[in-house]
Order: sequence, then structure tokens, then C-alpha cells
Amino acid sequence: MVSTIELNKRQERILQIVKDNGPITGENIADQLNLTRATLRPDLAILTMAGYLEARPRVGYFYSGKTGSQLLTEKVKKLQVFDYQSIPVVVDESVSVYDAICTMFLEDVGTLFVVDKKSLLVGVLSRKDLLRASIGQRDLEAIPVNIIMTRMPNITFCFKDDLIIDVAGKIIEKQIDAVPVVREVGNGYEVIGRLTKTNMTKVLIDIAKDEVI
Ligand code: ADP
Repeated sequence: MVSTIELNKRQERILQIVKDNGPITGENIADQLNLTRATLRPDLAILTMAGYLEARPRVGYFYSGKTGSQLLTEKVKKLQVFDYQSIPVVVDESVSVYDAICTMFLEDVGTLFVVDKKSLLVGVLSRKDLLRASIGQRDLEAIPVNIIMTRMPNITFCFKDDLIIDVAGKIIEKQIDAVPVVREVGNGYEVIGRLTKTNMTKVLIDIAKDEVI
């Protein structure tokens, strides 16, 4: 895992040397620091992978000119769904509102995805969908979820290769808590994950801990 690392003293000095003298070979940087090329290799690798330096064969190292925060922004924009998604909880469209409420408690999730007999996504159930259906209703076991769920084609979903930042935008724009991660199967979608506001909070923590992948 490489991130917008905090640079150590030696890396800071290398950066300064390349800023002042680049393009410059590894050999020349080593000379200026009175170190061997081999000793510097890991530092140069880190600075290159992190994006501070660029390396060109036979020419040497250039300073990329990017600040730590520019590099972080670039990384955050590249984060993908599969690195942060959770396991989805699905229910069959024929189950009752009562059973869906039990599943929501047992599985400890805030959003359920509803699938048909072929396991294809047909609906979404939020906490408030179930609360609304429960108000004033006596027999929650008699109401199937497919009459209260939000249904296709109105479901906002994403694919595992989508960018986290795009899904975050959809969550805000649509004012929803979770998005199913799907895979296209025939003429429908199979649910393979979920991305929630909690997953987004995890992204924030990773950024703060400097552990963005
Ligand atoms: P809550 O209703 O508990 O506040 P949400 O904000 O997630 O939770 O849901 C608001 C409404 O949007 C609900 O009616 C729900 O069915 C619907 N909804 C939730 N997630 C999605 C989604 N991914 N795509 C479409 N509609 C959704």
C-alpha cells in the first residue's frame, strides 16, 4: 500500500536536490549525499511511486511539481468500489414486511436489496420504507415487500469498478444511504455488494490515516 506518505529527512533532501538540479541521475543524487546508489534505491522508488518524482530511462529523475495534496486528490479520485464495498443483504420479493424487518435487525443493516426468483435485483428497502408500511398496519406478515419497495428502473446502482467519488456523488444527489453493487447477468443485474455511507466514512478514515490504496 503506497500513499501520500510523510517523507523522511533523506527523502526530503532527495526531493530538494532533484528540484534544484533535475533531470539528474540516481548516481549523481547519491554523490551529492555521499551515499551509494544502492542505499538510495528504496527512497527513489518510494518518491517515484508516490508521484513526487518521475523517472526517465537514461535521463534521470524529474520533479513532478505536484504537491502532497494534489497527489492525494489524484489518489482519492482513483479509488474504486471493490476496495470498499460490503457484503449485501438480500431478500426475496415474496417475503413479508414483517420478515424484512426481522432480517434488517438480524443482519444489522439499514438497507435491504430485493431480488426475484432468478436472484436478479428488483427492489430496495430502506428503514423508513418499512416504518412507513408498518404505521397503522396490523398484519405485517400479510404484506409482501414488493408492494412497498422502491423498484427498478428507479434503483441507483453501481459496478465494482466504478469510482468511489462517482458513487458518493450519487448518494448525495439521490439522498440515499446505500447503493447496490451489481453485475450484469442476461437482461438483469445480480447483487454482489453494497456501498453505504459507512463505507464512505471508512474512506475518510483511510485518507486521514494516510492509508489510501
Ligand atoms: P431511509 O428511508 O431510511 O432514510 P434512504 O435515504 O436510503 O433510507 O432511502 C430513502 C428512499 O430512497 C427510500 O424510499 C428507499 O427505498 C429509496 N432508496 C434507497 N436506496 C436506494 C437506491 N440505491 N436506489 C433507489 N432508491 C433507493
